[in-house]
Amino acid sequence: MKILVINCGSSSLKYQLFDMENEEVLVKGLVERIGIEGSRLVQKKNGDEFIIEEPMENHTQAVGHVFDALVDSENGVLSSLDEIDAVGHRFVHGGEKMTKSALIDDEVKEAINEAAKFAPLHNPANLMGLKACEELLPNVPNVAVFDTAFHQTMPAKTFLYGIDYKYYEQEAIRKYGFHGTSHNYITKRAADLLGKDLSQTNIISAHLGNGSSITAVKEGKSFDTTMGLTPLEGLVMGTRSGDLDPTVVTYIEEKENLSPSQMNDLLNKKSGVLGVSGVSSDFRDLEEAANNGNQRAQYALDMFTTRAKRYIAGYMAEIERCDAIVFTGGIGENSIELREEMMKGFEQFGIKIDKEANEVRGGEHIISTEDSKVKVMVVATNEELMIARDTQNLVK
Ligand code: ADP
Repeated sequence: MKILVINCGSSSLKYQLFDMENEEVLVKGLVERIGIEGSRLVQKKNGDEFIIEEPMENHTQAVGHVFDALVDSENGVLSSLDEIDAVGHRFVHGGEKMTKSALIDDEVKEAINEAAKFAPLHNPANLMGLKACEELLPNVPNVAVFDTAFHQTMPAKTFLYGIDYKYYEQEAIRKYGFHGTSHNYITKRAADLLGKDLSQTNIISAHLGNGSSITAVKEGKSFDTTMGLTPLEGLVMGTRSGDLDPTVVTYIEEKENLSPSQMNDLLNKKSGVLGVSGVSSDFRDLEEAANNGNQRAQYALDMFTTRAKRYIAGYMAEIERCDAIVFTGGIGENSIELREEMMKGFEQFGIKIDKEANEVRGGEHIISTEDSKVKVMVVATNEELMIARDTQNLVK
C-alpha cells in the first residue's frame, strides 16, 4: 500500500510518500511560498533534489505540482497517481470530538471547522490541503490525524483551567495539548525499548524543537501536557512565550495599545528565546552566542532548561512511577549540552546521565547510567510515519 502524508501550512506544504510494505519513504518534499511570489517545490529522493519553480496561487495548484513531481518520468517515483491508496493529513486541532485519527467525512470536517476557532491559522490551512486532494484524487480516501487527539485521555484535573467552569461548558476552553502524534510515537517506541506492555508504560516525553512540549504519560496514555488551549502554553519556545502571568498580557496590551491579535502575534512570534535573547530562535545560534559571552542568550537557554526541569520533576510526581524520561525533537535529539543541563539536579532522585552515552544525536539510545533509577533516552521522533500507519489502519 502506498500512502501520501501531507502537512499543510498557510503558505507551505510538506509531503512524504510511504510504501507501507516496509514503511519506506519513497520520496519527500516541501512546497514553499504558496500564494506568494516565488513559489517553489523541492522534492528529495536518495539525496537528489528535483525543483519546480512555477507560480502556485493556492493549495490546489501546489498539490497539483506535488502530483506532477511524484509521477515525473525522470525524478518521480510513481508511474501513475492511481498507485496512491490513501492520503493522511495532519490536522492541528481536533477539539474534544476528535479523540483519535479518522477517515474524513462530513462529520469529521464539521469537528475540524468547530475546532478552528482555537487554531484559526492552522485548521483552515490544513483543510486547504484536504480540499485539493479531494478535487484532484476524488476516489482516494483521506484520513485526518490530529495533534490534539493523543491528549484526549487527560483527566479533568489536568485539563481544566482555574477559571469559571462555564467557560469550559459553554466555550470548550480547556487544555488540549499538541505534538500528540509525536508523543504517541515516542510512547510506543519507549514501551518497545523498555520491553514493557504499552498499558504499563509510564514515561515523560520531552519533544523539544521550535515548538516544545513535555507530556506525562501514564499507562500508555497522555495524563498531562505543557501546551494548552493553543500551542502557546508551557515551555519557553523558539518564538513563543510559554507560561506567563495573564496580567503581563493585559498590561502590555494596554500600555502599547495593542489589539488582541497584535498581542497574539507578539506572544507567538516575537517572544520566547528569541524575545529574551534578541539573537535568534535557533538553539544552535543561542549556544554559540552564549559561548561567546552573550548574557541574554545565556538567560534564554537557562530559562528553557529550568522550565523543562520544573515540568519533568512535577510530572514524575503526577504519574507516581516513571519508567523513562525521553528526549526528542530537533533540540531533544541533538543538543547534548541541554540534555545534560536539564538532568542536573535529578541525581538526588537517583537519576543519572552517563556523559559518554549522552554523546549522541538522533537515533534511539539509553543515555542514563546502569544504576539510574529511571532510564533516560533519546528517541528520534517520526510523526509522518505515525500518520502513515494510522492512515493505513483506517483504510485497510
Ligand atoms: P520543528 O518544531 O519546526 O519541527 P525541530 O524539531 O526541527 O523543529 O527543531 C528545531 C530546533 O532544533 C532548532 O531550534 C534548532 O536549533 C535545534 N537544533 C537542531 N540541531 C541542533 C543541535 N545540534 N544543537 C542544538 N540545537 C539543535
